[in-house]
Order: sequence, then structure tokens, then C-alpha cells
Amino acid sequence: MTFPALSNITRPSAQKIVLRVSANAEKNIRRGHPWVFEKSILKQSRHGAPGELAILFDAKREFLAIGLYDPTSPIRVRILQSGKPAVINSNWLQEKIHTASALRQPLNAPHTNGYRLVHGENDGLPGLVVDRYADALVVKLYTPAWIPYLKEICGAFPSYKYIVLRFSRSAQKQTAALQGLADGSMLTSHTPPGAILFKENGIIFECDPINGQKTGFFLDQRENRERIRNLSQHKTVLNVFSYTGGFSLYAAAGGAKAVTSVDLSLPATQAVLRNIKHNQRLPEVRATKFETLTEDAFKALTEMKASGRKFDLVILDPPMFAQNQMQVEAALSAYRRLTQLGLSVLKSGGILAQASCSSRVSAERFFESIHQAAQAARRPLQEIQRTGHALDHPIAFKEGAYLKCLFAIA
Ligand code: SAH
Repeated sequence: MTFPALSNITRPSAQKIVLRVSANAEKNIRRGHPWVFEKSILKQSRHGAPGELAILFDAKREFLAIGLYDPTSPIRVRILQSGKPAVINSNWLQEKIHTASALRQPLNAPHTNGYRLVHGENDGLPGLVVDRYADALVVKLYTPAWIPYLKEICGAFPSYKYIVLRFSRSAQKQTAALQGLADGSMLTSHTPPGAILFKENGIIFECDPINGQKTGFFLDQRENRERIRNLSQHKTVLNVFSYTGGFSLYAAAGGAKAVTSVDLSLPATQAVLRNIKHNQRLPEVRATKFETLTEDAFKALTEMKASGRKFDLVILDPPMFAQNQMQVEAALSAYRRLTQLGLSVLKSGGILAQASCSSRVSAERFFESIHQAAQAARRPLQEIQRTGHALDHPIAFKEGAYLKCLFAIA
């Protein structure tokens, strides 16, 4: 396979950068943490370009780790291997990708062909995400340090027709380091004729890997969506922060009477309507009454509360509220506000499903906040389930554990 967009990518110097890091960083690396911050570097043999290999030695001058160097990020080195030395080459990379793909094999079934194949740090490939949507792959880079290795990464997936390259927001800012590659570039010579259609538990969704949020779909909520399907029969469902209607379609497929989807983004609510069309072969979906509102969630909930509208099941899946440690308290207060608004439109005895994807907010504090808010609203909760990560989103370090969701009766 050839990747025309990658023909001009230059390889970094073969000579490695040698680093010494602080005692604290050394301790963290030994515990398996994959990041070395700029401020913990004590000594450095030379400056380097994104993607060069950096070798770290400990205080006794023995091998500590080897990683990818990135001068454009405060996360200066992403650890590829620690403890015992390794030759980081094409074989090493293929093997890591193969191990990550093999872990997802149980998900690859006729009724599901959308899932995460590589989950960055948590699969030993820090800063690299690969998502599959049917015969399309999205390679998303959180650091330009992976650019020199893109040919090998794409080469590890020979059976995919389309490969789209995406960059995280912070990587996009480093345009000089991106070697002429733009966010949304097609790496394969074929371009998909339109939106990509894929299946998740038998439900068809379209995704737009080039312009969509994340890599085009929120694959991490697959199992929670399945739980919603099992709770929806004969219910009226409110899906707040619906994006393209993931939870909405599952609720409908599970026999919901009516589903209301709310999202601020017009492309997202327009995609909800198309996803409803894609599933008209399912009698349950045909029988559901759908409504979509392109509106701010807090405003929509407040209006529904004022007009006395009530639902049997309310789903709240907001975007990340805490980008850093300083925003944690504000995020918790926003979660409490959402719980109260959600409960105000939930019938007595109805089900609340509330999720958080802020890695800075611990599961414990998140669940505690929901309970606090519910008690303050005199709607104490009876928990059904607390859920976390699915097989294709494994957790290998503290920051990797970001998703939590509470299912409760109020
Ligand atoms: N539940 C979705 C994923 C939700 S992601 C799924 O299963 O696919 C969070 C969504 O919140 C995004 O679609 C984003 O457009 C939307 N959003 C962000 N801020 C919002 C706001 N203030 N009001 C409503 N929607 C908002």
C-alpha cells in the first residue's frame, strides 16, 4: 500500500537524545507513568525534533526508559518502554499495534464494526489513537512526534480502504511541526464518497471522521448505550448532549415510545435525523416518535422544567467540564446543577443516567456530587449501576480512567 500524503515526511535523526530526569519523575516512570514533563528534565544532550527517540538514564546512569521526544509540548517525552531496553523500530511498533488489535477481537462481530483499536497511553502507544468505523480508520495524533512513523502505523492496517488523519487541538496549534499535514487529511488514495456508515450492536450510525467531534463518534459510550436500550421499553426518553443520537437510537431500538435529543451543535442534531433514517428497517425505531432540539442543554432543561414536561428516562452525557485541576470544583458544581435540572424533568420513579468524561474529576467525587444534588432536590437516588470503561478503552494509568456513569432510579 502507498500513502501519497506521506511521501515527503522526513525521518528524525537516528542519534538518540540522552536525558536525565528528576528523582520524582524517575519514580513515576518506574511505576509505569507514560509522561515526562519538560520541567522534570535535569539534563539533555541536545535539542531535538518531534519524533526523535530520547533515552532516559537514572541517577546511577542505568537505563530507565526510552520514549518519543516532543519539543512542542510540555509533555516532553512520551514513554514507549521502561525497565528493560528495547529497539524501537518498525517491528516493535507492529507488535504493539497487533497486541492492541488482538485485545479488541471479541468486539469484531457482524453486528459491531466500530470500536477503538489503539487507545494511546493505555495500549503502550502514548499520544496515538486509532478508531475503526467499518472499512475506515481514523488515526488521531495527540503529538506531532508520531508523524515520522505514520507510514508504519498505516502499514500495520493493510485491509482498510480509507485512513483519515486527525490531530488533537493542541497538536493542531503546532503547525510548523506537522510537516505539511492538515487535520482531516486522507492518507489513503481513496476518499470515502460520503459519510461512513458503521454498525454498533446492530444499529447503523453514520460518522464524519473528517469534521466530526473526537474521531467522528463517541465509541467509549457503546456499553452504556446498550444499557439504555435495555431500560427503554415503553418509555419516554430525554437524551441531553445527544451528539449524533447514539443513546437516542439505542433507546428507540429498545422500544422507547418517544425520544427527545438535545444538542447545541446543528451538524450533530442534523446527523440525529439521518441516523434515524438509517435504522428504519428496525420496527421499534419506526414506531418511536422523535424530536430533536438544537439548543443549549441548560436552557432547554430549564424551559422544560418551567413548562412541566416530564420523561421516564433522562440521559445526561455532557462534554468534558474540567480541562485542568483548577476547574474541578466548577465542573462538580456544573454536574450537580445538571443532576438537579435532569431530576426536575424526570417522573417520580424514573431513571437517571448521568456520565462524566472529565479525567480530572474522580469517579468517587462525581458519584458523590450526583447524590448530594439529588438529596438537595429531595429526590434521593436508588443506584442501579456504576459503570466505567469498555474493553476497547482499557486503563493503564491514572489519567486513563476518565469515563464514569451512574444509572439510578429517582
Ligand atoms: N452522548 C453522545 C456524546 C456526547 S458528547 C454520544 O453517545 O454520542 C457531548 C456533546 O455535548 C457534543 O455533541 C456537544 O456538541 C454537546 N454540547 C456541548 N456543550 C453543550 C451545551 N451547552 N448544550 C448542549 N449540548 C452541548
